[in-house]
Amino acid sequence: MLKLTVVAAMAAASLAAQGMTPDAEKQLARDIYKQFVEIQSGYTTGATTPVAEAAAARLKAAGFAESDLFLGGAIPTKGNLVARYRGTGARKPILLLAHTDVVEAKREDWSMDPFQFVERDGYFYGRGTGDDKAQAAVWIANLIRYKRESFRPDRDIIVALTADEEGGGPYNGVRWLLKNHPEKIDAEFALNEGGWGEIAHGRKIANDVQVSEKYVIDFRLEVRNKGGHSSLPVPDNAIYHLAGGLDRLAKFGFPLKTNAVTAAYFGAMAKIESGPAGSDLAQVAQGSHEAMERVAALSAAWNATLRTTCVATQIEGGHARNALPQLAAANVNCRVLPEDSVEYVESTLKKIVADEEVNISVSHEVVKGPASPMRPDLFQAVSRITDTMWPGVPSVPMMVMGATDGLYLRAAGIPTYGVQGFFFDRDDIRFHGRDERMGVTAFYEGQAFLYQLVKSLAK
Ligand SMILES: [Zn+2]
Repeated sequence: MLKLTVVAAMAAASLAAQGMTPDAEKQLARDIYKQFVEIQSGYTTGATTPVAEAAAARLKAAGFAESDLFLGGAIPTKGNLVARYRGTGARKPILLLAHTDVVEAKREDWSMDPFQFVERDGYFYGRGTGDDKAQAAVWIANLIRYKRESFRPDRDIIVALTADEEGGGPYNGVRWLLKNHPEKIDAEFALNEGGWGEIAHGRKIANDVQVSEKYVIDFRLEVRNKGGHSSLPVPDNAIYHLAGGLDRLAKFGFPLKTNAVTAAYFGAMAKIESGPAGSDLAQVAQGSHEAMERVAALSAAWNATLRTTCVATQIEGGHARNALPQLAAANVNCRVLPEDSVEYVESTLKKIVADEEVNISVSHEVVKGPASPMRPDLFQAVSRITDTMWPGVPSVPMMVMGATDGLYLRAAGIPTYGVQGFFFDRDDIRFHGRDERMGVTAFYEGQAFLYQLVKSLAK
């Protein structure tokens, strides 16, 4: 019996050495994942509090002190959980973030019940299986595993499961915590969603680390005019002023450039992309302007990576078919590189529109965070673990066009990195869409990846 136990322990140790997760730990993560997915936490109609409470109950049962678990939120239904795993305190804490709200999902739009966790044909199906309940479940399961293994980190590990990332708004958990309990999530840096593994044509090609995000500025372009009868037109016409300005904007492109993150991204992509594009990408990484022109013309995503963009998204104007317009207005949505300022974008727009009649103003609140620094400890750990688990797969730093709650943390001075180690087919990303899913193997691999990553960053 003793012999058997020893053999089992040795087998477990060698499993751990290869980076594989023991079955009991996988089962725990799966149970938590299922529980989270089946709680209806839709952004507009659901509640995140039951997710926070379920996670807290599991941690309590695993031996976490009540005083290390904090539940609270902007309103009773939009609860957040902050759990602290105590370390020696030698270094400042690390924050592990995941949001627990999901985009709404209607039964009739799906081929199955979106709030029923289903395993089928090698995938886990359900709303939130990708965005973002897998990471939430893994953070909790791994905390419990660290506890069971008596892992003693050199810094506190804080897990925050938060409300209302999807669409943000007044109940956003990260903003609420930063405003009301900043000390609870204060950390040297944070890990979050926003970067995942990419599969192309069935092959793993990159493990992405999201380092920065573009930020959003909405401008209102507005022309007011005294108007008059449409039978007596004059050149001074509100719609024509606006149209002229938008036409000049349509033909304009902000300067192409790279920064530390995007240069590293193009450098890594150059190795992945074969053919002529590959050499252009390498030249972009070196700062070649001609290559940037060619690469920007190849793909909307690369274009958006290389420059600030501004595009007209809505128009309004006129009040009658037979009247000269008294109002013409447009919304122009800009996605701005972290190094470009609001003032720069606004003054550039004014220069391009070049019409005094067109009033240009910022129409919505702007939240701007700096890019996170390319921390060598983090990037080395990510590359090392990535290379061990998936030999030959590079880890690629990214700037993304969308926004996550990482924006608020970066703005508050907590550098944030989107990294998951969950691999998805890049041509079949179902976040926010129908039949959202996660590969069963991808889930367990991400669990093992994050388990090791956090451990190596905290000792
Ligand atoms: Zn998300």
